Amino acid sequence: MAIQGNRTSDESFFKIPAIKFTKLFINGEFVDSISGKTFETIDPRTGEVIARIAEGDKADIDLAVKAARDAFDNGPWPRLPGVARARIMQKFADLIEENVEELAALDTIDAGKLFSAGKAVDIPHAASLLRYYAGAADKIHGEVLKMSREFQGYTLLEPVGVVGHITPWNFPSTIFFMKVAPALAAGCTMVVKPAEQTPLSALYYAHLSKLAGIPDGVINVVTGYGPTAGAAISSHMDVDKVSFTGSTEVGHMVMKAAAESNLKQVSLELGGKSPLLIFDDADIDKAAELALFGILYNKGEICVASSRVYVQEGIYDELVKKLVEKAKNCVIADPFDSKSQLGPQVDKRQFEKILSYIEHGKREGATLLTGGKPSGNKGYYLHPTIFSDVKEDMLIAKDEIFGPVMALMKFKTIDEAIKCANNTRYGLAAGIVTKNLDVANTVSRSIRAGIIWINCYFAFDNDCPYGGYKMSGFGRDFGLEALHKFLQIKSVVTPIYNSPWL
Ligand code: NAD
Repeated sequence: MAIQGNRTSDESFFKIPAIKFTKLFINGEFVDSISGKTFETIDPRTGEVIARIAEGDKADIDLAVKAARDAFDNGPWPRLPGVARARIMQKFADLIEENVEELAALDTIDAGKLFSAGKAVDIPHAASLLRYYAGAADKIHGEVLKMSREFQGYTLLEPVGVVGHITPWNFPSTIFFMKVAPALAAGCTMVVKPAEQTPLSALYYAHLSKLAGIPDGVINVVTGYGPTAGAAISSHMDVDKVSFTGSTEVGHMVMKAAAESNLKQVSLELGGKSPLLIFDDADIDKAAELALFGILYNKGEICVASSRVYVQEGIYDELVKKLVEKAKNCVIADPFDSKSQLGPQVDKRQFEKILSYIEHGKREGATLLTGGKPSGNKGYYLHPTIFSDVKEDMLIAKDEIFGPVMALMKFKTIDEAIKCANNTRYGLAAGIVTKNLDVANTVSRSIRAGIIWINCYFAFDNDCPYGGYKMSGFGRDFGLEALHKFLQIKSVVTPIYNSPWL
């Protein structure tokens, strides 16, 4: 690696594409917002403006919902055979794959994500989500009911209707398709409100959806702010379901708005403060790699980041030494640089929020082992930060920081490890590092979280549902579970032969 803990000298970066789409996408057309207002989207590498984007608000959401409602009630999409929807979704995936570099570059300049990861992981994953759910689109069917009286019955699985998807900024492409792909397969129509920090790839996907042949009104994308455009979706009387991914705080607001409007269905994928438990029998080098991967991937801006690391006392000192050594070797550099391991945080607000948590940690008496400060003099780059001597009641052990900040703690017994892991209001994910199968099985069944990784981390798969326990939300992404979020069951019952009803 070229430079330790700082910018590398490799400046052979990808040529940044021109921004082609900046307007709202409603009923198959790119349009200005009704108010004519726009907002800036900022490059976190420099703090400079990339483009001005149309700022949609309630009036634009009303138009988009009207288009989605008309497409649902009168358009072909929900009525097409599943195999025909699948064919269009596959074409959509082809178009994404033809534009991988450009799409990855958009997420890099908007969110500071590593270009290499965008090209190899995020964008191919977006296409693969479309393919996975396309494969399910013609296998949606109900059941025959064996009823206890003289009736025969069956169930139908029908699309839930008009869906509002509200997304965060940390995985602008993956999360867009974690929501849009199963909803398309189910036959829903939709309005997507991407995070205001990262609108660029969502608008590009809107354009590709039209090229793929998705009928007008089926996918609408309204860029804008949460309290205006986002809130207009969750309180809309003609939206049948809101699918939200974001913070627990906003999750509360979305659910309240849904309850106070038309009781629309809600699914919430929220925050986390996930524990990684490393037991005495672990390979220390590998465990240190895993722990760093768990907190540094995507700059720690990932809901399942392993932000609380509990290490058994027998290997604690040695593991801490390894962690610090490896963290200091992390290459912090422009995310277009192929050697970069850590790009900039998404924006100034997030950057300052992380720094203020670091100050809190120091004030509360945790020991700062490494990092804790910005890197370089422009952009929102931070050094990987590790605190030891962290106590369970410190803010850095309780709150989701959403940055490259690890809180290290020590434990003695398995029971203590389980108790610590569960000592959180969140329940999204957990990791266990041990060679002992009995420990792995006992601990994985005792932790209240939606996904447990044993001797691995971030092992996501389209086929593997994940989501929250406790205040991390409810509903599952990925797998056929996610498809069922966008379907509802109708039972059909009729009397049979010899029935007194006939
Ligand atoms: P956020 O809650 O601030 O915003 C998420 C989305 O909600 C944005 O589009 C925003 O504009 C919108 N919004 C804001 N206020 C709103 C309101 N009053 N009504 C309706 N919508 C509103 O979250 P963020 O900062 O964009 O993302 C980070 C958070 O997302 C973290 O807490 C992270 O853990 C969580 N997250 C969870 C998952 C998961 O799968 N569980 C995945 C990624 C991110």
